Amino acid sequence: MTTANITVIGAGVVGLTTALVLSKHANFKVTVVAKHMPGDYDIEYASPWAGANYLPVGVPGTNLQRFERDTWPELHRICTEVAEAGIHFQDTLIYKREKDVHTSTGEWLNELCKKDAWFRDILPNFRILPASELPPGIDSATAFTSVCINTAIYLPWLVGQCVKAGVIIKRAIVSHVAEAASLHHTGEPAGVVVNCTGLSAGKLGGVEDPTVFPARGQIVIVRNDPGVMSTISGTDDGPDEATYIMQRAVGGGTILGGCLQKGSWESQPDPNLALRIMKRCVDLCPQLTGGKGIEALSIIRHGVGLRPMRKDGPRVEKEKIANVWVVHNYGHGGYGYQSSYGSAAAAEKLVESILKEKARL
Ligand code: FAD
Repeated sequence: MTTANITVIGAGVVGLTTALVLSKHANFKVTVVAKHMPGDYDIEYASPWAGANYLPVGVPGTNLQRFERDTWPELHRICTEVAEAGIHFQDTLIYKREKDVHTSTGEWLNELCKKDAWFRDILPNFRILPASELPPGIDSATAFTSVCINTAIYLPWLVGQCVKAGVIIKRAIVSHVAEAASLHHTGEPAGVVVNCTGLSAGKLGGVEDPTVFPARGQIVIVRNDPGVMSTISGTDDGPDEATYIMQRAVGGGTILGGCLQKGSWESQPDPNLALRIMKRCVDLCPQLTGGKGIEALSIIRHGVGLRPMRKDGPRVEKEKIANVWVVHNYGHGGYGYQSSYGSAAAAEKLVESILKEKARL
Protein backbone atom coordinates (compact mmCIF):
# COMPACT_ATOMS: atom_id res chain seq x y z
CA MET A 1 0.00 0.00 0.00
CA THR A 2 1.49 3.37 -1.00
CA THR A 3 1.55 6.09 1.63
CA ALA A 4 -0.43 9.24 0.83
CA ASN A 5 0.18 12.67 2.37
CA ILE A 6 -2.98 14.74 2.88
CA THR A 7 -3.32 18.27 4.28
CA VAL A 8 -6.70 19.40 5.60
CA ILE A 9 -7.17 23.17 5.90
CA GLY A 10 -9.56 24.00 8.76
CA ALA A 11 -10.24 22.78 12.29
CA GLY A 12 -13.95 23.47 12.51
CA VAL A 13 -16.38 20.57 12.80
CA VAL A 14 -16.06 19.88 9.05
CA GLY A 15 -12.23 19.85 8.95
CA LEU A 16 -11.81 17.80 12.13
CA THR A 17 -14.47 15.24 11.14
CA THR A 18 -12.91 14.90 7.68
CA ALA A 19 -9.43 14.46 9.18
CA LEU A 20 -10.79 11.82 11.57
CA VAL A 21 -12.49 9.88 8.77
CA LEU A 22 -9.32 10.05 6.61
CA SER A 23 -7.14 8.93 9.55
CA LYS A 24 -8.88 5.51 9.54
CA HIS A 25 -6.85 4.67 6.41
CA ALA A 26 -3.62 3.14 7.67
CA ASN A 27 -1.69 4.47 4.64
CA PHE A 28 -2.88 8.11 4.93
CA LYS A 29 -0.66 10.61 6.76
CA VAL A 30 -2.93 13.51 7.68
CA THR A 31 -1.96 17.06 8.71
CA VAL A 32 -4.54 19.65 9.79
CA VAL A 33 -3.57 23.32 9.43
CA ALA A 34 -5.87 25.99 10.78
CA LYS A 35 -6.00 29.65 11.70
CA HIS A 36 -8.51 28.89 14.50
CA MET A 37 -8.70 25.87 16.79
CA PRO A 38 -11.15 24.53 19.38
CA GLY A 39 -10.86 26.82 22.41
CA ASP A 40 -10.91 29.98 20.24
CA TYR A 41 -14.03 32.15 20.00
CA ASP A 42 -13.82 34.29 16.85
CA ILE A 43 -16.30 35.64 14.34
CA GLU A 44 -14.32 33.90 11.54
CA TYR A 45 -14.82 30.52 13.25
CA ALA A 46 -18.43 29.23 13.17
CA SER A 47 -18.17 25.88 14.92
CA PRO A 48 -17.98 26.93 18.60
CA TRP A 49 -21.12 29.10 18.28
CA ALA A 50 -23.46 26.35 17.07
CA GLY A 51 -26.15 24.91 19.38
CA ALA A 52 -25.62 22.31 18.15
CA ASN A 53 -28.43 19.92 17.38
CA TYR A 54 -29.58 17.55 14.62
CA LEU A 55 -32.68 19.05 12.99
CA PRO A 56 -32.65 18.07 9.29
CA VAL A 57 -33.52 20.76 6.74
CA GLY A 58 -32.14 19.25 3.49
CA VAL A 59 -34.55 18.88 0.56
CA PRO A 60 -34.78 15.23 -0.62
CA GLY A 61 -32.43 14.59 -3.55
CA THR A 62 -29.89 17.25 -2.55
CA ASN A 63 -26.34 16.74 -1.26
CA LEU A 64 -27.34 18.24 2.04
CA GLN A 65 -30.17 15.77 2.59
CA ARG A 66 -27.88 12.82 1.78
CA PHE A 67 -25.20 14.16 4.14
CA GLU A 68 -27.75 14.63 6.94
CA ARG A 69 -29.16 11.13 6.41
CA ASP A 70 -25.66 9.62 6.44
CA THR A 71 -24.61 11.55 9.56
CA TRP A 72 -27.36 10.39 11.92
CA PRO A 73 -26.08 6.80 12.47
CA GLU A 74 -22.66 8.03 13.65
CA LEU A 75 -24.09 10.76 15.92
CA HIS A 76 -26.45 8.15 17.35
CA ARG A 77 -23.55 5.73 17.92
CA ILE A 78 -21.37 8.35 19.61
CA CYS A 79 -24.29 9.50 21.74
CA THR A 80 -24.99 5.93 22.83
CA GLU A 81 -21.43 4.68 23.31
CA VAL A 82 -19.10 7.65 24.01
CA ALA A 83 -20.31 9.67 27.02
CA GLU A 84 -17.20 11.89 27.06
CA ALA A 85 -17.90 13.25 23.54
CA GLY A 86 -20.50 15.64 25.01
CA ILE A 87 -23.63 14.60 23.07
CA HIS A 88 -26.98 13.65 24.60
CA PHE A 89 -30.40 12.59 23.39
CA GLN A 90 -33.18 15.15 23.68
CA ASP A 91 -36.96 14.99 23.37
CA THR A 92 -37.73 17.42 20.56
CA LEU A 93 -40.80 19.48 19.57
CA ILE A 94 -41.18 21.21 16.19
CA TYR A 95 -44.01 23.75 15.88
CA LYS A 96 -45.36 25.05 12.59
CA ARG A 97 -47.45 28.14 11.79
CA GLU A 98 -48.79 28.29 8.22
CA LYS A 99 -48.18 32.05 8.07
CA ASP A 100 -44.39 31.49 8.26
CA VAL A 101 -44.17 29.37 5.10
CA HIS A 102 -42.87 32.14 2.80
CA THR A 103 -40.60 33.92 5.28
CA SER A 104 -36.82 33.46 5.25
CA THR A 105 -36.97 31.40 8.47
CA GLY A 106 -40.01 29.43 7.26
CA GLU A 107 -38.21 28.45 4.05
CA TRP A 108 -35.10 27.42 6.01
CA LEU A 109 -37.17 25.14 8.26
CA ASN A 110 -39.64 23.92 5.62
CA GLU A 111 -38.50 20.27 5.49
CA LEU A 112 -38.07 20.12 9.25
CA CYS A 113 -41.66 21.19 9.90
CA LYS A 114 -43.34 18.68 7.56
CA LYS A 115 -45.70 16.10 9.04
CA ASP A 116 -44.37 13.59 6.46
CA ALA A 117 -40.71 14.65 6.88
CA TRP A 118 -38.20 12.35 5.10
CA PHE A 119 -36.52 11.57 8.42
CA ARG A 120 -39.70 10.29 10.08
CA ASP A 121 -38.48 6.69 9.81
CA ILE A 122 -34.91 7.54 10.84
CA LEU A 123 -35.23 9.60 14.02
CA PRO A 124 -36.62 7.64 16.98
CA ASN A 125 -40.14 8.19 18.32
CA PHE A 126 -41.37 10.41 15.46
CA ARG A 127 -45.02 11.36 15.92
CA ILE A 128 -47.50 14.03 14.85
CA LEU A 129 -49.05 15.88 17.76
CA PRO A 130 -52.88 15.69 17.92
CA ALA A 131 -54.75 19.02 17.66
CA SER A 132 -55.63 18.76 21.37
CA GLU A 133 -51.90 19.06 22.27
CA LEU A 134 -51.18 22.14 20.10
CA PRO A 135 -50.48 25.44 21.93
CA PRO A 136 -52.47 28.53 20.81
CA GLY A 137 -51.39 29.89 17.39
CA ILE A 138 -49.74 26.64 16.28
CA ASP A 139 -51.16 24.90 13.17
CA SER A 140 -49.27 21.60 13.44
CA ALA A 141 -46.42 20.01 15.36
CA THR A 142 -44.20 16.94 15.38
CA ALA A 143 -42.17 15.32 18.14
CA PHE A 144 -39.17 12.98 17.99
CA THR A 145 -35.89 12.16 19.71
CA SER A 146 -32.78 13.97 18.49
CA VAL A 147 -29.40 14.97 19.93
CA CYS A 148 -27.78 18.12 21.25
CA ILE A 149 -24.00 18.51 21.08
CA ASN A 150 -21.99 20.53 23.58
CA THR A 151 -19.56 22.10 21.09
CA ALA A 152 -17.15 23.15 23.87
CA ILE A 153 -16.68 19.45 24.73
CA TYR A 154 -17.22 17.85 21.30
CA LEU A 155 -14.68 19.88 19.27
CA PRO A 156 -11.80 19.14 21.70
CA TRP A 157 -12.97 15.49 21.72
CA LEU A 158 -12.65 15.44 17.92
CA VAL A 159 -9.13 16.90 18.23
CA GLY A 160 -8.26 14.13 20.72
CA GLN A 161 -9.62 11.41 18.42
CA CYS A 162 -7.59 12.81 15.51
CA VAL A 163 -4.37 13.02 17.55
CA LYS A 164 -4.90 9.47 18.86
CA ALA A 165 -5.21 8.31 15.25
CA GLY A 166 -1.89 9.94 14.31
CA VAL A 167 -3.14 13.21 12.76
CA ILE A 168 -0.73 16.14 13.25
CA ILE A 169 -2.46 19.45 13.96
CA LYS A 170 -0.80 22.83 13.60
CA ARG A 171 -1.60 26.52 13.36
CA ALA A 172 -1.04 28.30 10.09
CA ILE A 173 -2.76 30.88 7.92
CA VAL A 174 -2.90 29.76 4.32
CA SER A 175 -3.21 32.50 1.71
CA HIS A 176 -3.55 30.24 -1.37
CA VAL A 177 -5.14 26.78 -1.24
CA ALA A 178 -2.24 25.15 -3.14
CA GLU A 179 0.25 26.48 -0.56
CA ALA A 180 -1.20 23.97 1.96
CA ALA A 181 0.46 21.13 0.03
CA SER A 182 3.82 22.40 1.29
CA LEU A 183 2.65 22.47 4.95
CA HIS A 184 2.44 18.71 5.41
CA HIS A 185 4.14 17.61 8.65
CA THR A 186 6.46 15.14 6.90
CA GLY A 187 8.17 17.96 5.01
CA GLU A 188 7.17 16.17 1.79
CA PRO A 189 4.43 17.75 -0.36
CA ALA A 190 0.85 16.60 0.19
CA GLY A 191 -0.72 14.77 -2.77
CA VAL A 192 -4.16 16.08 -1.84
CA VAL A 193 -5.35 19.21 -0.01
CA VAL A 194 -8.81 19.14 1.56
CA ASN A 195 -10.36 22.59 1.78
CA CYS A 196 -12.58 22.89 4.90
CA THR A 197 -12.34 26.67 5.36
CA GLY A 198 -16.07 27.42 5.80
CA LEU A 199 -16.96 31.05 5.16
CA SER A 200 -13.31 31.87 4.34
CA ALA A 201 -13.65 29.88 1.09
CA GLY A 202 -15.01 33.18 -0.21
CA LYS A 203 -11.60 34.82 0.03
CA LEU A 204 -9.04 31.97 0.09
CA GLY A 205 -6.63 32.32 -2.85
CA GLY A 206 -7.32 29.83 -5.66
CA VAL A 207 -10.91 29.29 -4.43
CA GLU A 208 -12.55 32.73 -3.94
CA ASP A 209 -16.05 31.29 -4.24
CA PRO A 210 -18.37 34.29 -4.83
CA THR A 211 -21.47 32.28 -3.86
CA VAL A 212 -20.40 31.94 -0.20
CA PHE A 213 -22.07 34.36 2.24
CA PRO A 214 -22.73 34.68 5.99
CA ALA A 215 -26.06 34.14 7.75
CA ARG A 216 -25.67 35.75 11.15
CA GLY A 217 -26.95 33.90 14.20
CA GLN A 218 -27.29 35.52 17.62
CA ILE A 219 -27.75 33.44 20.78
CA VAL A 220 -28.13 33.78 24.54
CA ILE A 221 -26.69 30.99 26.70
CA VAL A 222 -28.51 30.52 30.01
CA ARG A 223 -28.38 28.18 33.01
CA ASN A 224 -32.14 27.45 32.97
CA ASP A 225 -33.46 23.99 32.10
CA PRO A 226 -36.09 23.87 29.31
CA GLY A 227 -36.87 20.16 29.76
CA VAL A 228 -37.33 19.71 26.02
CA MET A 229 -35.62 20.90 22.81
CA SER A 230 -37.99 23.02 20.70
CA THR A 231 -38.18 25.11 17.55
CA ILE A 232 -40.92 27.05 15.78
CA SER A 233 -41.25 27.91 12.07
CA GLY A 234 -41.10 31.69 12.55
CA THR A 235 -41.77 34.73 14.72
CA ASP A 236 -43.87 37.92 14.64
CA ASP A 237 -40.70 40.04 15.02
CA GLY A 238 -39.40 39.88 11.43
CA PRO A 239 -39.00 37.32 8.64
CA ASP A 240 -35.34 36.55 9.48
CA GLU A 241 -35.79 36.07 13.21
CA ALA A 242 -36.11 32.60 14.72
CA THR A 243 -36.87 30.88 18.01
CA TYR A 244 -35.14 27.73 19.16
CA ILE A 245 -34.17 26.24 22.50
CA MET A 246 -31.72 23.43 23.22
CA GLN A 247 -29.88 22.25 26.29
CA ARG A 248 -26.27 21.22 25.70
CA ALA A 249 -24.97 18.00 27.24
CA VAL A 250 -22.80 17.81 30.38
CA GLY A 251 -23.54 21.21 31.92
CA GLY A 252 -23.08 23.23 28.73
CA GLY A 253 -26.09 25.46 29.46
CA THR A 254 -29.12 26.13 27.31
CA ILE A 255 -28.89 27.90 23.96
CA LEU A 256 -31.67 30.39 23.18
CA GLY A 257 -31.79 31.51 19.54
CA GLY A 258 -31.92 33.24 17.28
CA CYS A 259 -31.97 34.70 13.80
CA LEU A 260 -30.82 33.99 10.23
CA GLN A 261 -29.60 37.38 8.99
CA LYS A 262 -28.28 36.74 5.49
CA GLY A 263 -25.43 38.99 4.35
CA SER A 264 -24.76 40.43 7.83
CA TRP A 265 -21.12 40.32 9.06
CA GLU A 266 -21.90 42.04 12.40
CA SER A 267 -19.93 40.32 15.17
CA GLN A 268 -21.43 42.08 18.19
CA PRO A 269 -24.67 41.02 19.93
CA ASP A 270 -27.62 43.38 19.41
CA PRO A 271 -29.15 43.95 22.91
CA ASN A 272 -32.64 44.57 21.50
CA LEU A 273 -32.53 41.32 19.54
CA ALA A 274 -31.28 39.53 22.68
CA LEU A 275 -34.36 40.76 24.56
CA ARG A 276 -36.66 39.57 21.78
CA ILE A 277 -34.94 36.16 21.71
CA MET A 278 -35.33 35.70 25.47
CA LYS A 279 -38.97 36.82 25.43
CA ARG A 280 -39.89 34.52 22.55
CA CYS A 281 -38.13 31.54 24.12
CA VAL A 282 -39.87 32.01 27.47
CA ASP A 283 -43.22 32.41 25.65
CA LEU A 284 -42.58 29.18 23.70
CA CYS A 285 -41.31 27.29 26.74
CA PRO A 286 -42.60 28.87 30.00
CA GLN A 287 -41.01 26.03 32.00
CA LEU A 288 -37.61 27.64 31.28
CA THR A 289 -38.29 30.04 34.18
CA GLY A 290 -41.09 28.18 35.97
CA GLY A 291 -43.62 30.74 34.71
CA LYS A 292 -41.63 33.70 36.15
CA GLY A 293 -40.86 35.53 32.87
CA ILE A 294 -37.52 36.55 31.36
CA GLU A 295 -36.25 38.20 34.56
CA ALA A 296 -35.72 34.68 35.92
CA LEU A 297 -33.33 33.72 33.10
CA SER A 298 -29.79 33.27 34.42
CA ILE A 299 -27.52 34.47 31.58
CA ILE A 300 -24.10 32.89 31.05
CA ARG A 301 -23.21 34.99 27.97
CA HIS A 302 -24.40 36.40 24.66
CA GLY A 303 -22.92 35.17 21.39
CA VAL A 304 -22.84 35.75 17.64
CA GLY A 305 -21.71 33.35 14.93
CA LEU A 306 -21.76 33.49 11.13
CA ARG A 307 -23.17 30.42 9.38
CA PRO A 308 -21.06 29.65 6.28
CA MET A 309 -23.83 29.61 3.66
CA ARG A 310 -23.36 28.78 -0.02
CA LYS A 311 -25.93 29.48 -2.75
CA ASP A 312 -26.09 25.85 -3.94
CA GLY A 313 -25.46 24.23 -0.55
CA PRO A 314 -22.34 22.43 0.69
CA ARG A 315 -19.61 22.01 -1.93
CA VAL A 316 -17.91 18.61 -1.95
CA GLU A 317 -15.98 18.47 -5.23
CA LYS A 318 -12.49 17.79 -6.52
CA GLU A 319 -10.52 20.29 -8.56
CA LYS A 320 -6.90 20.72 -9.67
CA ILE A 321 -5.65 24.16 -8.65
CA ALA A 322 -2.11 25.37 -9.50
CA ASN A 323 -1.18 21.74 -10.18
CA VAL A 324 -2.38 20.56 -6.73
CA TRP A 325 -5.37 18.24 -6.28
CA VAL A 326 -7.92 19.86 -3.95
CA VAL A 327 -11.05 18.31 -2.46
CA HIS A 328 -13.47 21.01 -1.36
CA ASN A 329 -15.68 20.46 1.67
CA TYR A 330 -17.23 23.80 2.69
CA GLY A 331 -20.46 25.81 2.67
CA HIS A 332 -22.37 23.91 5.37
CA GLY A 333 -24.52 26.89 6.42
CA GLY A 334 -26.51 26.21 9.59
CA TYR A 335 -26.05 22.43 9.39
CA GLY A 336 -22.33 21.64 9.67
CA TYR A 337 -22.72 19.26 12.63
CA GLN A 338 -25.79 17.45 11.39
CA SER A 339 -24.16 16.86 7.97
CA SER A 340 -20.58 16.36 9.20
CA TYR A 341 -20.06 12.59 8.84
CA GLY A 342 -21.99 12.28 5.57
CA SER A 343 -20.07 15.14 4.05
CA ALA A 344 -16.71 13.79 5.33
CA ALA A 345 -17.49 10.39 3.78
CA ALA A 346 -18.20 12.06 0.42
CA ALA A 347 -14.89 13.98 0.65
CA GLU A 348 -13.10 10.72 1.58
CA LYS A 349 -14.42 9.07 -1.63
CA LEU A 350 -13.03 11.94 -3.72
CA VAL A 351 -9.62 11.70 -2.01
CA GLU A 352 -9.59 7.95 -2.76
CA SER A 353 -10.52 8.56 -6.40
CA ILE A 354 -7.69 11.09 -6.84
CA LEU A 355 -5.15 8.72 -5.28
CA LYS A 356 -6.37 5.82 -7.42
CA GLU A 357 -6.04 7.94 -10.55
CA LYS A 358 -2.51 9.07 -9.51
CA ALA A 359 -1.49 5.45 -8.91
CA ARG A 360 -2.74 4.50 -12.39
CA LEU A 361 -0.66 7.19 -14.14
P1 FAD B 1 -15.63 26.79 10.68
O1 FAD B 1 -16.08 26.25 11.97
O2 FAD B 1 -15.82 28.25 10.46
O3 FAD B 1 -14.11 26.41 10.54
C1 FAD B 1 -13.31 26.91 9.49
C2 FAD B 1 -11.88 26.51 9.78
O4 FAD B 1 -11.07 26.88 8.67
C3 FAD B 1 -11.28 27.22 11.00
O5 FAD B 1 -10.41 26.38 11.70
C4 FAD B 1 -10.51 28.37 10.35
O6 FAD B 1 -9.46 28.89 11.16
C5 FAD B 1 -9.96 27.63 9.15
N1 FAD B 1 -9.52 28.54 8.08
C6 FAD B 1 -10.29 29.31 7.29
N2 FAD B 1 -9.51 29.99 6.42
C7 FAD B 1 -8.24 29.60 6.67
C8 FAD B 1 -6.99 29.94 6.10
N3 FAD B 1 -6.89 30.78 5.08
N4 FAD B 1 -5.85 29.36 6.61
C9 FAD B 1 -5.93 28.48 7.63
N5 FAD B 1 -7.11 28.13 8.22
C10 FAD B 1 -8.24 28.69 7.73
N6 FAD B 1 -25.07 23.38 12.67
C11 FAD B 1 -25.71 22.25 13.04
O7 FAD B 1 -25.49 21.19 12.44
N7 FAD B 1 -26.61 22.25 14.07
C12 FAD B 1 -26.91 23.39 14.77
O8 FAD B 1 -27.72 23.36 15.70
C13 FAD B 1 -26.25 24.59 14.39
N8 FAD B 1 -26.53 25.75 15.05
C14 FAD B 1 -25.84 26.89 14.71
C15 FAD B 1 -26.11 28.07 15.42
C16 FAD B 1 -25.39 29.23 15.15
C17 FAD B 1 -25.68 30.48 15.93
C18 FAD B 1 -24.41 29.21 14.13
C19 FAD B 1 -23.60 30.44 13.84
C20 FAD B 1 -24.17 28.05 13.40
C21 FAD B 1 -24.88 26.89 13.67
N9 FAD B 1 -24.68 25.70 12.96
C22 FAD B 1 -25.31 24.55 13.32
C23 FAD B 1 -23.80 25.68 11.78
C24 FAD B 1 -22.40 25.19 12.08
O9 FAD B 1 -21.85 25.91 13.15
C25 FAD B 1 -21.54 25.36 10.83
O10 FAD B 1 -22.14 24.78 9.70
C26 FAD B 1 -20.18 24.70 11.03
O11 FAD B 1 -19.59 25.14 12.22
C27 FAD B 1 -19.26 24.96 9.85
O12 FAD B 1 -18.05 24.31 10.14
P2 FAD B 1 -16.76 24.52 9.24
O13 FAD B 1 -15.75 23.60 9.79
O14 FAD B 1 -17.12 24.42 7.80
O15 FAD B 1 -16.34 26.05 9.45
